[in-house]
Amino acid sequence: MAGSVQIASPSGSKLKLLSSIKIEVNGQPAKQGGCSSSSAGGKASCGSAAGAGDLDPEIWEKVKNHPCYSEEAHHHYARMHVAVAPACNIQCNYCNRKYDCSNESRPGVVSERLTPEQAAMKVVAVASEIPQMTVLGIAGPGDPLANPDKTFKTFELIARQAPDIKLCLSTNGLALPDYVKQIKDFNVDHVTITINMVDPAVGEHIYPWVYFKHKRYRGRDAAKLLTDRQMEGLEALTANKILCKVNSVMIPGINDDHLVEVNRAVKSRGAFLHNIMPLISEPEHGTYFGLNGQRGPSAQELKALQDKCEGEMNMMRHCRQCRADAVGLLGEDRSGEFTTEKIEQMAVVYDFESRRNYQKAVEEERQAKVAAKRAEMDTLAGELSDIKLLIAVATKGSGKINEHFGHAHEFQVYEVSTEGAKFIGHRRVDLYCQGGFGEEAALETVIRAINDCHAVFVAKIGACPKDELTAAGIEPVDRYAHEFIEKSAIAYFRDYLAKVKSGEIVHADRGDAAIRQGAFVAA
Ligand code: SF4
Repeated sequence: MAGSVQIASPSGSKLKLLSSIKIEVNGQPAKQGGCSSSSAGGKASCGSAAGAGDLDPEIWEKVKNHPCYSEEAHHHYARMHVAVAPACNIQCNYCNRKYDCSNESRPGVVSERLTPEQAAMKVVAVASEIPQMTVLGIAGPGDPLANPDKTFKTFELIARQAPDIKLCLSTNGLALPDYVKQIKDFNVDHVTITINMVDPAVGEHIYPWVYFKHKRYRGRDAAKLLTDRQMEGLEALTANKILCKVNSVMIPGINDDHLVEVNRAVKSRGAFLHNIMPLISEPEHGTYFGLNGQRGPSAQELKALQDKCEGEMNMMRHCRQCRADAVGLLGEDRSGEFTTEKIEQMAVVYDFESRRNYQKAVEEERQAKVAAKRAEMDTLAGELSDIKLLIAVATKGSGKINEHFGHAHEFQVYEVSTEGAKFIGHRRVDLYCQGGFGEEAALETVIRAINDCHAVFVAKIGACPKDELTAAGIEPVDRYAHEFIEKSAIAYFRDYLAKVKSGEIVHADRGDAAIRQGAFVAA
């Protein structure tokens, strides 16, 4: 039954979507042109770390199951990108788009470009297989608004076929002021703008050119045009109550200090979330910065800047700088399971009811997690200490310590203090366990990546890595296997404080850690 997709709507009507993207509605051919026209139916860190009681109910509805806008949700819900937007209208010195690359994981890279019809089919297939996939984003590999016909056609098809999925787009902002009305009309209520500067003197070192209304602008003129259009677009979006996230790439020596000013500028214009990400600049990516030796920040440099910008403005710290065709929970990439060829062989049933039931179970688990964290926090009541620890965690999701040390592609990092446990980032690593044995070189990269952490929480770990981590001053901890992360981090911290007080251990700060350049590649 090649390429057959059935969509079970909440009302029970069925659409049948064929691989040729001809649609049948209850056995009758629908009009051509893609899909059937019949409807299928704390402020502490990230806006992110905030829960139901901390946010305006209208905003909570928008972010509660959005893995990028809610740090807490990203442990439970998945997103996907569809690569329907190949063209771009600006050049960034950190970007090099690749259209058929499966071994790099960074923005601008995809395995295959899709038509809007193929994209819609992929979304339905993924949503059927991954019931916690709640968000569809268009993020390239170029700029979605430099490809407006493909972008909005894709949104139109998905809104009809999978109406329970939130729609997002990510743009450089150059064309944004011209599309705010369309964005609103298509119910795209999450928009990300990449803003790396608000001063053209900084911008000219990041953008060699922009292309606007049939004219190419260079140098400071290009940067001035870009920043003016970005600010205009951001203001228009927030005036229309569209939730805006701002992404900024931290480029040491070029815009690192300046990003505090960017933070102020976007905050004053109503942005909801600011996501400061490290520059990725490996020479093999072929970017201008990569080829010219521009370094990215260290883990502690990035954290210091994020901490500086944190305050009234929500900071996102869990971004994985995904490919433009990423699929799955943040931190995993299942795009290889959903190539066009594979989807055409799948019999897909898009069942709203089972998606809803699955998500209900997810919500119950989230509540159990919050309750466990609160109960553990009560045990810290009255403790006074300036000590802050970082803890690395091996996890497959659900907010639990449920990954073997050797199978971790990344470690999530939590800062724990008397104020509680807070997610502060993640560290990509090379896989330690290679076909049944440990890879020494990989272990070195893991230690470099979590070198600023006092402990690493794992579901299981072998004797050899355990010894080497201990020798590096990082305590491997497996006694909380399969328990909730934050609750466990607080319990560990309470025991740590008790040991410091009793003189059993002497607390010392750890050093810096390396952000792994290059990227995670799906196994
Ligand atoms: S790049 Fe960042 S914001 Fe975009 S989908 Fe990935 S994690 Fe979310």
